[in-house]
Order: sequence, then C-alpha cells, then structure tokens
Amino acid sequence: MLPITDDHMHINIIGGRGVEAIKEFRNAGGTHVFIVSLPAGELGLKVMRGDDFRVAYDITVEAARRASEHVKAYAVVGVHPAEFIGLAESMGMEKAYAIVKDGLEIAAEYVAEGKAVAIKSGRPHYPVAGDLWKASNDLMRYAMELCREKGCAIQLHTESEPETMKSISDIAKQAGMPPHRVIKHFSPPLVKECESLNVFPSVICSKGALEEALSQGTRFMLETDYIDDPRRPGAVLGPRTVPRKTKEAIRNGAPEEAFYKIHKDNPERSYGIKIEC
Ligand SMILES: [Zn+2]
Repeated sequence: MLPITDDHMHINIIGGRGVEAIKEFRNAGGTHVFIVSLPAGELGLKVMRGDDFRVAYDITVEAARRASEHVKAYAVVGVHPAEFIGLAESMGMEKAYAIVKDGLEIAAEYVAEGKAVAIKSGRPHYPVAGDLWKASNDLMRYAMELCREKGCAIQLHTESEPETMKSISDIAKQAGMPPHRVIKHFSPPLVKECESLNVFPSVICSKGALEEALSQGTRFMLETDYIDDPRRPGAVLGPRTVPRKTKEAIRNGAPEEAFYKIHKDNPERSYGIKIEC
C-alpha cells in the first residue's frame, strides 16, 4: 500500500479538534504525519523563561502519541520565529534571545530523548527591524547547529521571497547541515531551484502546487500546515488535502512511483526514520 505523508500539521489537543482531524486524515488515506508544536501563545501559555517551552513541547508529544493510535505520527518541536519577535517586544531583545536559545536547546534535548524527530525554527515571514532580523537569523543558524550536532532535520518557517531559498541554503551550509535535513516548510513548488541548493522543499498543497512540483521532479514533500483552530475554519487547508490531491494526481496519470519517493523515500532520508504501511 502507498504511504501518504503530511509533512507539517498542527494538532491542538487543548482547544482544537485534536485527534478527530487525524481520523479525517486517515479516512482519506493518510498514513504518516509530522505534528509540529504550536506557538505557546496559541495554547494559552505564557513564556517567561526557556523552560516554559516544555509545556508546549509536551502537548505536541502527547498529540503525536494520541495520533499514533490512528496513523504513524512524529513530533517536531521548537520555537516559532514570531514568538521571538513577540518576546522581544515585551521584554527586550537580549532577554528574548536568551529565552529562545534555551527553548531551542530544550527542543534538541527532546530529539536526543527520542520524543521528537526534528527541530522547528526559522525567521519572520514579515518585515522586522534590522536588529531583530539579524538576531532571528542568528537563532535560526544556532538551531541548525543543534540539529547538526544531533543528526536531525530542521523545519524552517521563513518568508518565501525570490532570494529566500538561496539565503537559507547559504546559512545551512555555514552551519554544516546536509541538504536533505534542511526542510523549508510552507514552500512554493520550487523543486528544480532547490535541487542545487542546501534546502529540501515541503510544498504547501494549495491549488495547482502539486502539479507544478511534479512537473519539476520528485525531490519534495507535501504538507497542509493544518492549524486545527476552530475559530478559523476554512482559513487553511484541511487534514484530507494531501491524501486527496495525491489520489487525484494518480487518477490523472501521475506515476505511483513518484509518490513512493514523495511520501516514503524523501521523509525517510530527511528525518532518518522508516515509513512502512
Ligand atoms: Zn505550521
């Protein structure tokens, strides 16, 4: 049976639909999913020091555990770049920097303990002041260094400008990250461009993106970035999207082989896991 993997979903077991969304994913044909930590604020948590991120990470690990009763789920934990900006505004950049750094180190600890398979980091996707931009890039590089140390992947939340791929690729090279471990989350279907860079695209499965990505190759993964926020229904892609679009593409003549690459070989290599059905 063909595995179908969603590379980036959020499951909010506190205030969202939680495992119901995973059941929907499974019923549509989904088999494997990466559950990424939500910003602490979205879980109603207040971060005052690095240790406070543990609560958000534990919720993510627990969501992956519950989801694994229905599909195979993996946790990805770390700090959303907007959290750093928010903390810098409320407590000053220096203090915010230290807290986020601690948060990333704790994420690396979760990977070392086998509770998570990758670290989430990145830089703001919206314009910020120059010093905040520099600090965000420094934090992202630090997260990459932690990943290199632990031999794990990084999921990056960044802007998507024409020069973005090249820029994060350069930073990843400096940090000594292997290209297949540097995953650009919410990626446009820039499969060809990424082939020669130190970046691996996780293509957001919006209209036409899968077709465009397939026309360029198979070196990519697919995701919905499902946010599991009942206050914003329909604001983002639903949990059935990746299986649905995969099946639709196969019906329209795309070779099933291509999807063994996208849903099995690629995530296996990127995350160092085994994907079996
Ligand atoms: Zn996300």
